[in-house]
Amino acid sequence: MQVIETYKLMIYGLVQGVGFRPYIFRLAHTHRLKGWVENRTDGVILMINATHEGVLKFRDEIIHTAPVASAIESIEIVKAGRQEFSSFEIRNSEDISDAVTEISPDIAVCPECLYDMKEQPHRKGYPLINCTHCGPRFSIISDLPYDRPNTTMALFEMCPVCRAEYTDVSDRRFHAQPISCNHCGPVYRLETTGGQLENMDDILSKVKDIVAGGGLLAIKGTGGFHLICNAFSEEGVKRLRNMKRRNGKPFALMFRSADEARKFVKITRKEEEVLTSWRRPIVLLRKKRNITKGIADGLSTLGVMLPYMPFHHQLFEHLDTPAVVMTSGNFTDEPILISNEKATRMFAGYVDGVISYNREIFNRIDDSVVAVTGKATMVLRRARAYAPSPIRTGIELEDILGTGAELTSTFCMGKGQQAIMSQYIGDLKNLETLDFYREIYDRFCRMFRFSPNLVVSDLHPDYMSTRFARQLAEEHPNIQHISVQHHHAHIASGMLDAGLEGEVLGFSFDGTGLGSDGHSWGGEVLQAGYLNFERLFHFEYIPLPGGDKASLEPWRMGLSYLYRCFGDELYELQIPLVKAIDRKDIGHITMMIDQKLNTPLSSSAGRLFDALAAITGLNYYSSYQAEAPMLLESVLDPSEKGVYEYEIDDKQVSFSLMIKSVVEDIHDGLSIGRISAKFHNTVVNLIFQLSKRIRIESGMNRIVLGGGTFQNRYLTRKVMDKLKKERFDIYLPQRIPMNDQGIAAGQIAIGAHRRKLM
Ligand SMILES: [Zn+2]
Ligand SMILES: [Zn+2]
Repeated sequence: MQVIETYKLMIYGLVQGVGFRPYIFRLAHTHRLKGWVENRTDGVILMINATHEGVLKFRDEIIHTAPVASAIESIEIVKAGRQEFSSFEIRNSEDISDAVTEISPDIAVCPECLYDMKEQPHRKGYPLINCTHCGPRFSIISDLPYDRPNTTMALFEMCPVCRAEYTDVSDRRFHAQPISCNHCGPVYRLETTGGQLENMDDILSKVKDIVAGGGLLAIKGTGGFHLICNAFSEEGVKRLRNMKRRNGKPFALMFRSADEARKFVKITRKEEEVLTSWRRPIVLLRKKRNITKGIADGLSTLGVMLPYMPFHHQLFEHLDTPAVVMTSGNFTDEPILISNEKATRMFAGYVDGVISYNREIFNRIDDSVVAVTGKATMVLRRARAYAPSPIRTGIELEDILGTGAELTSTFCMGKGQQAIMSQYIGDLKNLETLDFYREIYDRFCRMFRFSPNLVVSDLHPDYMSTRFARQLAEEHPNIQHISVQHHHAHIASGMLDAGLEGEVLGFSFDGTGLGSDGHSWGGEVLQAGYLNFERLFHFEYIPLPGGDKASLEPWRMGLSYLYRCFGDELYELQIPLVKAIDRKDIGHITMMIDQKLNTPLSSSAGRLFDALAAITGLNYYSSYQAEAPMLLESVLDPSEKGVYEYEIDDKQVSFSLMIKSVVEDIHDGLSIGRISAKFHNTVVNLIFQLSKRIRIESGMNRIVLGGGTFQNRYLTRKVMDKLKKERFDIYLPQRIPMNDQGIAAGQIAIGAHRRKLM
């Protein structure tokens, strides 16, 4: 006979704000278990009376059926002293508002709600349907605890039916804070020059007409407005491009279903898992065939997402097209628009209709962007459905703020052992974006009860994020300010992500970051721990003609490399770049280099990719960040296995031999695709050779990759495969972006270790 005993279960992980306690309550009922469940800061705790077999079965079922947006890290079971319970109940923890600091990210609509949308009388066709397992969270919350009065649903009073569901613990909508229905919730509206529509059927049929006619629409999403058009209307895509005032930056598409997307892109099983997950990010997928001109010209990948709001599903029920372009509602690089009034004012004259609903978006948040390489998932833009989930670490990070970098900025707050990263913010040189940064910082301080005593910034004195850190320290004498080197922060970020201690070998490759010697760095091989780093090797310093301008105009880097290798003979080279650029302009560049006029030195990996793209004639002017490297990766012919030579001296890696061979290959008529493959293979080879050499010298076997260059999937996959085969332990950040969004997290990890010495 099985003995019934009292068991205590501690469930750790992200289990708050995702309907976890009601879920446990219902599960306990079906298992006929008595006891209670209660929230704790780091998870939930529950007591039950059960047999040993019963408690194990219960645990297994929790692991297999927990709410999708929860993330259970571990479940501990211990025997407690025998107690009697009369029922199973949800206990209210008293200090909940201070203790619970976790805010659930926004969750895509769940299948049950989509079903209710068809069947439930009071929610038939209700476009803002949600339950405890799905719907808006972070985007509507203004303060903790996560209760309706602290959300933008506060203005809407529940009808009796909704209230009954909200208070019925056995209902799927028990304590679903944004609960609402056709009788009591926010409503959609379509504004066109012809007037306003509020009836959903009218809205959807009008939308169908507009999209079919190649028109543009602004649609309010979860974290901001989107601009959409039929993905198969060349005219629509062209209008959208003109409106956005950006030339080549690829547009993301929303497909009706994964099956529809599969007609245009390859989807691996792992990619499909991410694409259809509750997070519903944009996933970069390999094109099978070309799609409409103007969407992602010259690129081998397409950004694809699936419907995630109830309204998106309704939209595709009405549209004939299987896909729409869906891009952030903003002009060029401003933050995504969230206000109905502003959207109507700004977009009128450009679009054929503005669709909004009368619930305010409190926290602006873009769609996230993810790419899969091999088994690894890389978060390229960490925003909707990822932020503000904390990154759990093993390091005490309390009260430390990292202010991040500049171009793709975020900040990061340390709370206990958690790193709480802000959503992707954008380029701080843009004034509106800087305002967004400051605004979201104040909100995070309030919501997460955060006030820093140590603020860590980049080394670059002119970054707006550094100025922000300085200002905080000036205004608050209790706050200390330290700065850390950019590429060190990248490696520390990767170490934090993987939970590493001690020292690692770091390859920190990106576009730019101020080095400790005052030059611009970016092709860095570091021996690094959290406290310090040593620069073992770096790419050879090359003049950047025109400084920052060189990063937007790859032709400048191309010439700089050619001039280094060939001197004045470069004029005689029969290659596209030399033919395309006016002799006078070439002369101007070489003069600048000779006279050291506005030609800062750089060891950047990003600029080396730029140079290759220019020398091969692929890209002379970039219309968006990292265009040249992306084009170079896109044309790559994977059947080419060749490599180029390079030289490593005491500290520097020189690519002059490679550049000379590239020019020869162009003369010999080798295709750009094969030259690109040989170039990528060369960088892989370099990382491989250096890793082996350094391991022999110092025994270091753990390798961390960091920096935007590793967003290049071919490069990263090859490096990982090759190093794994040689039994290296290799780490690519999974939870934290490897690009500059990850800098802030690296900064607080370094800060935590330096603080111990202060
Ligand atoms: Zn739901
Ligand atoms: Zn209602």
